[in-house]
Amino acid sequence: MSEVRNTMAAQATGSYIAQEDRHAAHNYHPLPVVVASGDGAWVTDVDGKRYLDCLAAYSAVNFGHSNPVLLDAARAQLDRITLTSRAFHNDQLGPFVTELAALAGKDMVLPMNTGAEAVESAIKVARAWGYRVKGVPDGEANIVVMAGNFHGRTTTIISFSDDESARADFGPYTPGFRTVPYGDAAALEAAIDDHTVAVLLEPIQGEAGIIVPPADYLPAVREICTRLRALFIADEIQSGLGRTGATFACDLVDVVPDVYLLGKALGGGIVPVSAVVADADVLGVLHAGEHGSTFGGNPLAAAVGRAVVSMLATGEPQARARELGGVLRERLEALIGHGVVAVRGAGLWAGIDIDPVKGTGREICERLMERGVLAKDTHGSTIRLAPPIVVSEEDLVWAVEQLEAVLVDA
Ligand SMILES: *Cc1c(COP(=O)(O)O)cnc(C)c1O
Repeated sequence: MSEVRNTMAAQATGSYIAQEDRHAAHNYHPLPVVVASGDGAWVTDVDGKRYLDCLAAYSAVNFGHSNPVLLDAARAQLDRITLTSRAFHNDQLGPFVTELAALAGKDMVLPMNTGAEAVESAIKVARAWGYRVKGVPDGEANIVVMAGNFHGRTTTIISFSDDESARADFGPYTPGFRTVPYGDAAALEAAIDDHTVAVLLEPIQGEAGIIVPPADYLPAVREICTRLRALFIADEIQSGLGRTGATFACDLVDVVPDVYLLGKALGGGIVPVSAVVADADVLGVLHAGEHGSTFGGNPLAAAVGRAVVSMLATGEPQARARELGGVLRERLEALIGHGVVAVRGAGLWAGIDIDPVKGTGREICERLMERGVLAKDTHGSTIRLAPPIVVSEEDLVWAVEQLEAVLVDA
């Protein structure tokens, strides 16, 4: 009987995957699991098998699947109104931008939808600031970016990526960017000139493998940007909103950038919500008609964003990520020399370099999946663990035990 059920289940999984293979563009290579529902840190596939979600949609699901507080906020707003466009005011946007600005300690918010849109918007704002405030000659602005960066997938953003698979055959590329090594303050300073309007970086590089810069790096970037009059833009789309044990990864080293870029968790895993957050002397350069988005600042997004901000305003998710992050770190460090080469990260966000003799990151993730843990490789032999912050300590420890078992078996 159970054999019959297993065969039917495998057929269901296979047919969903076959449909995607045939009719969805092949721009991803997903693990062969078909998720049907989720609750907290756990998801259930179409066959009823449960998995601990240790990716949390690249930190978009920091507060867990089907978070009841966020779902209530979304449902209440669904019954009222979901989209007005910015041609009219709506009664959620004002409170949302006020509350988010307060959380970030800034004056103003530019609401957008996806992370890449927040990055694109910040590039436009920085250039306009450069021409109108700093006095850069028209068309001459440059922005300094980091080797190994990941800021999204649009044509301008991939123009300054150094990942060949992200950029090859997508040119011609947008000019106006210069790349320096990440974590090297002297190289950054040398790259800045009178036409530099901004420095754009991730305070911890996520897709590059959870790369944490030296503790004195971000303070040095802050000092250099202030002295040389360039905007410090921190892309906190993945690192922000609780993941690292702080509201922003910049908080971990007491640094305040000029501009925060937020996305992912800001939409509570329900709707895409992103934002550029800065003071009025920066965001105030935008005038009516110069930038926009049909969906940016919509009332559904704003209502969900408000619920996310109010959770973060309690400080509880950050404290929980800090505490559980300590547990995760300790457990992972015990595996160094037993199939693990190095562990990096902050809070509930770990990059784990696996000994290549144990297999590629992808192979390790496939074996973890068989044991009920969903994780994702970043590149090569590095995997990341970033479960929803609502994960229980018991489940978190269990996930590390599964990794240990996978490495012992390999
Ligand atoms: C995911 C991500 C983005 C892009 O966000 P999308 O919503 O996928 O466009 C930008 N920057 C960082 C650091 C990210 O992790």
